[in-house]
Amino acid sequence: MDLKLGKTIFDISHENTIGVMPPAPGVAASDKSWQIPAEFLRESAIDWPEVSEPEVVRHYIQLSTLNHHIDKDTYPLGSCTMKYNPKINDRAASLPGFVGLHPETPDADCQGALQLMWELAQDLAEITGMDDVRLQPSAGAQGEMVGLLIARAYHRQRGENRRTVIIPDSSHGTNPASVTLSGFEPVPIKSNADGLVDPDVLASVLNETTACIMLTNPNTLGLFEREIKRIVDMAHAKGALVYNDGANTNALLGLARAGDMGFDVLHLNLHKTFSTPHGGGGPGAAAVGVKKHLIPFLPGPAIVRSETNGIVQFKRQSPDPLSIGSVHTFFGNFGVLVRAYTYIRSLGAPGLKRVAEDSILNANYLRTLIKDAYDIPHAGPCMHEFVASASRQKKNGVRGGQIAKRLLDFGVHPPTVYFPLIVPEALMIEPTETESKERIDAYAAALLAIAKEVETNPDFVNAAPHTTRVRKIDEARAARDLDVG
Ligand SMILES: *Cc1c(COP(=O)(O)O)cnc(C)c1O
Repeated sequence: MDLKLGKTIFDISHENTIGVMPPAPGVAASDKSWQIPAEFLRESAIDWPEVSEPEVVRHYIQLSTLNHHIDKDTYPLGSCTMKYNPKINDRAASLPGFVGLHPETPDADCQGALQLMWELAQDLAEITGMDDVRLQPSAGAQGEMVGLLIARAYHRQRGENRRTVIIPDSSHGTNPASVTLSGFEPVPIKSNADGLVDPDVLASVLNETTACIMLTNPNTLGLFEREIKRIVDMAHAKGALVYNDGANTNALLGLARAGDMGFDVLHLNLHKTFSTPHGGGGPGAAAVGVKKHLIPFLPGPAIVRSETNGIVQFKRQSPDPLSIGSVHTFFGNFGVLVRAYTYIRSLGAPGLKRVAEDSILNANYLRTLIKDAYDIPHAGPCMHEFVASASRQKKNGVRGGQIAKRLLDFGVHPPTVYFPLIVPEALMIEPTETESKERIDAYAAALLAIAKEVETNPDFVNAAPHTTRVRKIDEARAARDLDVG
């Protein structure tokens, strides 16, 4: 047992030690009727740990300090929007009526949940400028696949068998994967020197085989696609659809809408822009939004609202015959939907706009603080994130991944490294709006201190982390072991 990592729950187990859960109000302690009936109890004993309540609490609090998380300190993981998650979201998601709801509950008995999902879809449609939104996919990548299957169904219905999807080389790795999974062929295009889509390059590959162009805007360099209108018009002129990878919509909330830019279909990661812990912290949920001409192809069931004699009712409706079908049992991860709803309703429209403004301000502030110590290949103002490069540090023998590990010694989480692929030694930094000026100053100070260390003591940086519970693994040895295995 590694003492640094603490004891396992089995190590602290003591026979006949238990936590106590009092019976429900009105149920006598002697009443065993609420217990599992004897015929359902297993016969062989399981070797469960036996631990008292305070020891269980301490055990899990201890475990929670071993890793880094957003409740502990800054987590500026570019493209992932690891923002602080307001506790009111968790409180709403923990309401007993939501937690105890069975998905087979008849519509009449779960009006609140249906209303919440209906209203959330309406809100997201308004935020993005789309005509309809569904909440089924359970992650961003699945949302991409849904959007692409919708594009395929749309073209097939028009009697066209378009096979290719154009993707800029700055796109998220899930984009080409979703394209392939949906039966299309990805056609990558090179970004120009400014890190944007070049309309001339696009024109050279855009033709009647193009089903869709998949764009991330702001793109993964944190830059707004300035030619977006022209790009969309070019695609539409060739009969192609335009997909918006809106996993990361932080910078646009209340400021600009994909629907107004002309996008036909988009997905949103509710577990990024609309809070909720993710990335080892919990499940995800995505929404898919479309313009009118694509509504029949949306996955189902839909939730519809009706009003008769002043009585409002919500019910599930089977999807349109043209629908791509169902991509998830029931709806998406409902707890994530409750959090997204609570987040939107507690901030309101002015609050959401402020989220976008502050996320842009924070990213630009941090970029300015570190720009003399690290190369920033695509200069100029950014949106909610920016991509620096450790190319200069690499000349001293320290790569981006090691700078990331050294940051852990400062008690903060590193940025995303080596992505996007078009920036060598990329450090992709997204502070988000929830970091204070003091936290951003401290993060910049850490990055500047490391840049100095790279010049004076690169070996020290290369041996990092020095203060974490688990030190760096011997990567060369791990590679050798894997080879042998
Ligand atoms: C996170 C992300 C995705 C994928 O979302 P998952 O929920 O991780 O599947 C897609 N595109 C972009 C730009 C992202 O940041």
